Amino acid sequence: MPNVDLHCHSTASDGLLPPAEVARRAAGNGVELLALTDHDDIAGLAAAAEAAAAEGMAFVSGVEVSIEWEGTQIHVVGLNFDPQNAALNEGLASIRAGRIDRAQRMSAELEKIGIADTFSGANRHAENPNLISRAHFARYLVEAGVCKDVRSVFESYLVPGRPGYVDHRWAELEDAVRWITGAGGVAVVAHPARYKISSGAMRRFLGNFRDVGGEAIEVVSGSHSLDDVGTYGRLAREFGFLASRGSDFHGPQESYVDLGMLGYLPDGLKPVWSRF
Ligand code: AMP
Ligand code: MN
Ligand code: MN
Ligand code: MN
Repeated sequence: MPNVDLHCHSTASDGLLPPAEVARRAAGNGVELLALTDHDDIAGLAAAAEAAAAEGMAFVSGVEVSIEWEGTQIHVVGLNFDPQNAALNEGLASIRAGRIDRAQRMSAELEKIGIADTFSGANRHAENPNLISRAHFARYLVEAGVCKDVRSVFESYLVPGRPGYVDHRWAELEDAVRWITGAGGVAVVAHPARYKISSGAMRRFLGNFRDVGGEAIEVVSGSHSLDDVGTYGRLAREFGFLASRGSDFHGPQESYVDLGMLGYLPDGLKPVWSRF
């Protein structure tokens, strides 16, 4: 089975390495097929594709779209689409605009508990000013000495129920899947085990996702345990989904799983890359 990594981030969103460096690092780690999947932005694809070609590594376009489903923030990865597609680009631009407003509301909430100027602080950590993420807030709060590491910032400030977390309207599931499939791509549920919803709600979500044209789920992911791989491998078979594999690498300092350093897909699953 080839070493495939179809989920990772660059400085075009909240990754720590520029797109070309992500591609070179993947090739150095033995990855044979890569997709760069920045949050809600595809500005890094051209540079990553060029570096991948120079390394002789196959590359497909990717993006990780932020959606909201029944009040939960969920991520849908799009793969192998036309990056020039107008409707996709407009949809992603609308999500990015919402991110700036959300970051200002997060900053106002943190101000109330005495942590000042986090909007500008987070922006200093965001290479792409249009793509501000909670990860940039977390890095700034570590720099400011509020917490010792990014993980503890999330636990104390940036998850639901914590003072820096605000509700936000992300894209609708149906729109996100339509943008991806309309651009000729495949829609994939990102790291399904990470969402804090019941197994019944997950089954309903997977049914909705399939009904609107979703075709795949990540089975092997940097944020899945071996148990999760088993669970989502079975769900992929049951729902007839293709299976994907991705590290969700953000940077050498912050990720437990490096590019391509993952287990293989369980037997009997059809890989999503068979569609490329
Ligand atoms: P956002 O898209 O702005 O809501 O930010 C989500 C991003 O924050 C994820 O893609 C991760 O990069 C990061 N993140 C979320 N939860 C955690 C966590 N518990 N620890 C570290 N990083 C996290
Ligand atoms: Mn991220
Ligand atoms: Mn994600
Ligand atoms: Mn991701």
